[in-house]
Amino acid sequence: MSEHDLVIRNGTVVTGSDTTVCDIVVSGGRIEDIRRNAPTRKQEIDASGKYVLPGGVDAHVHLDEPPFFGVKLADDYQSGTISAACGGTTTILSFVQQEGDQSLREAVNVTHEKARDEAIIDYAFHIMLTNIDEQMIGQDLPALIQDGYTSYKVYMCYDGMVLNDGDILKVLETSREYGATVLVHAENHHCIHHLANKLEQSGRTDIENFHDMSPMPVEREATHRAITLSELTDTPITIVHVSAREAMDQIRWGQDRGLKVYGETCPHFLEFTEDDVKRPGWEGAKYLCTPPLREGANREFLWRGIANGVFQIFSSDHAPFIFESKEGKKVGGETPHFRHVPPGMPGVELRAPYLFSEGVMKERISINKFVEVTATNPAKIYGLYPRKGTIAIGSDADIVVWDPDREVKVTRDMLHDNMDYTPYEGKILSGWPETVISRGEVVVSGGKVCAIPGRGTHLDRTPQDVNPAGGRVA
Ligand code: MN
Repeated sequence: MSEHDLVIRNGTVVTGSDTTVCDIVVSGGRIEDIRRNAPTRKQEIDASGKYVLPGGVDAHVHLDEPPFFGVKLADDYQSGTISAACGGTTTILSFVQQEGDQSLREAVNVTHEKARDEAIIDYAFHIMLTNIDEQMIGQDLPALIQDGYTSYKVYMCYDGMVLNDGDILKVLETSREYGATVLVHAENHHCIHHLANKLEQSGRTDIENFHDMSPMPVEREATHRAITLSELTDTPITIVHVSAREAMDQIRWGQDRGLKVYGETCPHFLEFTEDDVKRPGWEGAKYLCTPPLREGANREFLWRGIANGVFQIFSSDHAPFIFESKEGKKVGGETPHFRHVPPGMPGVELRAPYLFSEGVMKERISINKFVEVTATNPAKIYGLYPRKGTIAIGSDADIVVWDPDREVKVTRDMLHDNMDYTPYEGKILSGWPETVISRGEVVVSGGKVCAIPGRGTHLDRTPQDVNPAGGRVA
């Protein structure tokens, strides 16, 4: 019996498919048994009247990356993973980005250094591909995939990051050949440039104009194009942070044709609207993100997309930029200008509590759907299943005891990230993660963090786990 042996007793255990009252026996960091009337263990957790859920898998978290818009992210791997864990998340997928003339491999190694002594929960990396050349496509990328780095992110917009369709096709082909999957930021680069220039020329530079530089068709067109590129190469893709219902319709269209296209959406698109970006003065900058928030009616479509399975993944897209700082949202100077505000919102801690409260408690989705999109599906799509994302014998004992009766009023001070604001200030959420367990170890209990930074480990993956049909062709 190891020191972490424990029983979680009498909880309502929920997976992506089943709900049943039983005990979970944990040994050596893994789930040893799922049964009734389990024998006593060293540590006992009474979960009567509570949900017992797989630990959350947040597949889209930005931590400690090179500067974006000249600004550093507020969270590193310590504050970011603590904040995630306090919100019931036990695995994150964060990003590797090259800085300066680093090779992809060097960038991976640097990111390992950032995470190794800091993370309190487990993690894996998506690698951003922003610079395509023959060496990278022919040598570096295949070698990294074979080493278990099996997910890559490409951008269809942003100066310095955008890839053209030809380069994206090369990335997809290599991913197909060696067994990787690709995340796509789908907005049309040239449309954004054109519309932003026109806004500037007509003097409409206030933040409230931000969404006019990327209206729905800009996201819809890029989404459709990304799906086409995926179809041509038979490579699975995830369209990340989908904000527009018209983009969602394209994903459904692709799925209806049997294409390997997945969709991800995020809490802020369900909660906020373009009116939040029109808040006076700098206030709107707190809600500025890409793709932008849409009109209010759009939200109900996204909810339906979660309920009916168009979206497989619900991620935070945690992108923390300090509000009251010249090295944050206000980097662009004294006057708010829509083009100079780093886009992104914090949300890693509230991701699962938000969906539980607004989705499950308000009966928009089932508790099984909640588990599916916050844990099971992201684990499956990114090659971490069944080690992560479910409650099954042999899986890592990443478990959350969730109190459905606890009501929480969100304030900046109760959160554990390094931010100076939360967009959700004052929001009342029903239900909260009470005990968070990672590999059999209680990491958060009653809001108190009881884990040592550095205990989190990098999760090795294999190519077959993310692209079994794609496998190696040669
Ligand atoms: Mn992102």
